[in-house]
Amino acid sequence: MSTYVLGIESTAHTLGMAIVDEKLNILSDVREVYRPSRSLGIDPHDAAEYLSKKAGYVFKETLKKASVTVEDIDAIAYSMGPGLGPCLRIGATIARLLSCKYNKPLYPVHHAIGHIELVRLYYNLNNPLVILVSGGHTLISSFTNNRWRVYGETLDITLGNLLDMFAREIGLGFPGGPKVEELASKGSRYIELPYTIKGTNLQFSGLLTNVVSLYKKNIYTLKDLALSLQETAFSMLVEASERALTQLNNDSIAVTGGVASNDRLYAMLVEMGEEHGLKVYRLPKRLNSDNGVQIAVVGLKMYLSNVEPVDVENAIIKQRWRLDEVEVVWR
Ligand code: ATP
Repeated sequence: MSTYVLGIESTAHTLGMAIVDEKLNILSDVREVYRPSRSLGIDPHDAAEYLSKKAGYVFKETLKKASVTVEDIDAIAYSMGPGLGPCLRIGATIARLLSCKYNKPLYPVHHAIGHIELVRLYYNLNNPLVILVSGGHTLISSFTNNRWRVYGETLDITLGNLLDMFAREIGLGFPGGPKVEELASKGSRYIELPYTIKGTNLQFSGLLTNVVSLYKKNIYTLKDLALSLQETAFSMLVEASERALTQLNNDSIAVTGGVASNDRLYAMLVEMGEEHGLKVYRLPKRLNSDNGVQIAVVGLKMYLSNVEPVDVENAIIKQRWRLDEVEVVWR
């Protein structure tokens, strides 16, 4: 008999639900994504309101597409954090309600571990250096002594924030990453911008201030600014990743999170990987951004490893929660 796990993701802009089976087949993957107005970032309360309105539809579609009933589901996993409080509460509330009503075990999942484990399991990787780049995270991680340890990270804003904030400044709206990528692909001239690495850590805020001030001076084309921003920020990330790699013993490289969909970043990582004889893996683009599958696969691993589920009253949320605080007991 098959095992089915429902994953619920709601850390920020996306309400995602998915069902996976014991062989990690993705039976359904349904999402609704909140889009803030062009000139603004995400308003957590607006986003939560949107997610809660979509909950019924997303849940029904997830069951329908997977051709399973709620009774068939063996376990429920939800994003416990980190993320925006009002949004996290929507997913946690749905998870608690379903768990109580249908008497299903409940598993809290760290959102970043979802991104990381999805790419690891998808390609059956043994010991990858994982580069997680999104709106919420920019970090370089490797698995040691039961934890995903952080070997490098941003010290200020994330790479996703950098691209989104630049896009907002120039009137492109959210999410900015794909729009900056498109603009950059038409650029032809590199403009020197601040490049800041501290060991294996990164800082992007000076870069953002600088590129925005150049934009306001109106001397360079937007295409060249976008190209220069990407080249600078991605080179920083690649260099920090290479520095981490030389200290570790990884047998592959994986890049995940929304920004992993950027083809220029991927090409730069592939080039770096080749120099070290390592292959670079990334998920099909749809699975890089927030989704219920990443939560369901971790929930599945926990369920199959007989990890103790949480009681409904302990199924809380954690807005701040570092990746390396989580002991991975299911591997
Ligand atoms: P986290 O997953 O850490 O909570 P998040 O909620 O921002 O962060 P994601 O969906 O993983 O979630 O990532 C969204 C980010 O990815 C946004 O900053 C968006 O601009 C960026 N992004 C998406 N596609 C691209 C692309 N093609 N190039 C660059 N950035 C991209």
